[in-house]
Amino acid sequence: LVSRKKKSEDTVININGELIGQGKPSFVFGPCAVESYEQVAAVAESIKAKGEKLIRGGAYKPRTSPYDFQGLGLEGLKILKRVSEEYGLGVITEIVTPGHLEEALDYIDVIQIGARNMQNFELLKAAGATNKPVLLKRGLAATIDEFIHAAEYIMSKGNENIILCERGIRTYEKATRNTLDISAVPILKQETHLPVFVDVTHSTGRRDLLLPCAKAAIAIGADGVMAEVHPDPSVALSDSQQQMDIPTFDAFYQTLQTFMKNHEIN
Ligand code: PEP
Ligand code: MN
Repeated sequence: LVSRKKKSEDTVININGELIGQGKPSFVFGPCAVESYEQVAAVAESIKAKGEKLIRGGAYKPRTSPYDFQGLGLEGLKILKRVSEEYGLGVITEIVTPGHLEEALDYIDVIQIGARNMQNFELLKAAGATNKPVLLKRGLAATIDEFIHAAEYIMSKGNENIILCERGIRTYEKATRNTLDISAVPILKQETHLPVFVDVTHSTGRRDLLLPCAKAAIAIGADGVMAEVHPDPSVALSDSQQQMDIPTFDAFYQTLQTFMKNHEIN
């Protein structure tokens, strides 16, 4: 169902007025984790000032260690909902288990399925049975074929609004947190009719690489870029090494806008 052979036109998904996959790149910014209303609102303010329409933030955090911050759960979803109403932003947030899906649906606009759950088939099927768009991340060590099959699980349950998100894969390379597989973008665009995003934060794990990798993503034809922003990354409860502070975010965004204009990408 996700194959380009089944449907030749690009799938376009309308999220809060943002048309994803219609040609111009979309942007998803926001903190790694929801920590407080004030923290999310500070980022929302900056997103809104740029005229962007989407915000991300994790309420259920899949952490490597059980002793690390696990997210605020339902309280985090409530914060996201409040911010989304106050700032007019669509909310993208990760759901980690089918058990959380139903209660979450009232609070969110897009269900994110994270890298660690790309082959959680029960979660894929449950998300496929909802009417919310799904942002599906590539698994930590998933082949492109496995990634496409994961999307097929979602669509097989009737949900056609799926965004694929390349977020880097595990390789032997240690210079970056993961290895951004930039060629996955045109391959996924050729093989499927779905919009394809690149998460520059989790792929690189390095603030100094966010901008060049975002440019590469846009240049190679990605439908969107995701990056993490926190009002004070040094005190962030997760991913403090790789989130942008607001002035860095402003410069990142401005440079990308100029880049797109110079290359007539708008
Ligand atoms: C995230 O986007 O918050 C996240 C945990 O990313 P990933 O699933 O790609 O590691
Ligand atoms: Mn993160």
